[in-house]
Amino acid sequence: MNSIKKIGFIGIGNMGAPMAGHLVKKGFDVTVYDIRPEMVTAFVAQHGGKGAASLVDVAHGADAVITMLPDDKVVRKVVLGEGSENCVAAGLGRGAVVIDMSTCNPSATRSLADALKPRGIEVVDAPVMGGVVFAKDATLDIMVGGETALVERVRPVLQALGRSIVACGGTGTAHALKALANYVNACAFINAIEAMTIGRKFGLDSKLMAEALIPMCAGRNHPIEKKIIPQVLTRRYGTGMAMGFIAKDVRIAVETAKSVGAFAPLGERVLELWSAAAGKLGADLDQAQVARYWEEATGVKL
Ligand code: NAD
Repeated sequence: MNSIKKIGFIGIGNMGAPMAGHLVKKGFDVTVYDIRPEMVTAFVAQHGGKGAASLVDVAHGADAVITMLPDDKVVRKVVLGEGSENCVAAGLGRGAVVIDMSTCNPSATRSLADALKPRGIEVVDAPVMGGVVFAKDATLDIMVGGETALVERVRPVLQALGRSIVACGGTGTAHALKALANYVNACAFINAIEAMTIGRKFGLDSKLMAEALIPMCAGRNHPIEKKIIPQVLTRRYGTGMAMGFIAKDVRIAVETAKSVGAFAPLGERVLELWSAAAGKLGADLDQAQVARYWEEATGVKL
C-alpha cells in the first residue's frame, strides 16, 4: 500500500476548512471541493491548495478522499453518486481510501465500505471529538475504525489534524463510539440545564448553581464547564456546533442501540428533547441555545 500524499477534501465548512488548511500547511497535495463554490474560492485564497469544480475532479488521482460532511446520507450520495455519474467513486482508482471524518451512522459506514469493496476502494471512519477551536489548532481527538494495516496507512494524515488517535476496531466502530460519546454529553448537558432551570424557579442563582454542581457531581462535568458557564450564561452561544448535529448524534446512538438490541429508554427521551428543541428554535442554531428551550418552558432566565 502506497503512502498517502495526494488528498481530495470534501466539505470545507466550520470544521473541514481549518482541517484541510492544516493538511496544506503540512505538505500534502490537497484539492478541496464543497457544494458551495464560494467556500472553495475562499479556502484557496486563504490556505492555498487547489480547488475542484466537481466530485469526480476532487477524487481524480487521489490516494485518499476525506469527507467532512453533515451526515451519512450526504456522504453516501457524494461517494457513490446514487444515480449520478458525478461522484467520488467515479474519480478514485483501485487502492485509494475514503476517510470519513464526519459524524455518521456506523451501520451506514459498513454499508458504504461493502459497496466500495468490489472497486478496490477502502473506507476508514475517523470522526473527531473537539470543535472548531480544536480543528484550528490541529488538536482534535480522532477515533479510527478499520483494519490495522489501513489505520497505519492513514495515521500520518490524521496526525496532521489531531493530538490523539484512538484505533477503535473494525470499520464503523469509531463512528459508533463518537455518537455514543456525544450522546453522553448531550444527556449531561440537558440534565444540568433542567436542574438549573428548576433551581432558578426556586430562587437559586445560575452561576452559584453551575459552580457548585461541578465539585458536587463526581468528576468533571464537561457540559457545565465548557458549555453552560462560558456559552449559556454569557449568552455567547458560540460552541461552533449546531443543535441539529447534536440531535443527529443522539439519533445515531439510539439507532445503533436498536440495531444491536440494546436497552436505551433514556436515549430515546433525550433524542425527543433535542429534536423538539432543534425543531422549535432552529436546527442551525448553536447547541448552547438548547438552554432557551428550558427557559421558555420554565419561564426563567439562567
Ligand atoms: P458545516 O455545515 O459547517 O460544514 C459542512 C460542509 O459540507 C458545508 O460547507 C457544506 O456546504 C458542505 N456540503 C454539504 N453537502 C454537500 C455535498 N453534497 N457536497 C459537497 N459539500 C457539501 O458542518 P461542520 O460543523 O463542519 O460539521 C461537519 C461534520 O463534522 C458533521 O458530521 C458534524 O456532526 C461533525 N462535527 C462537527 C463539530 C463541530 O463542532 N462543528 C465537531 C465534531 C464533529
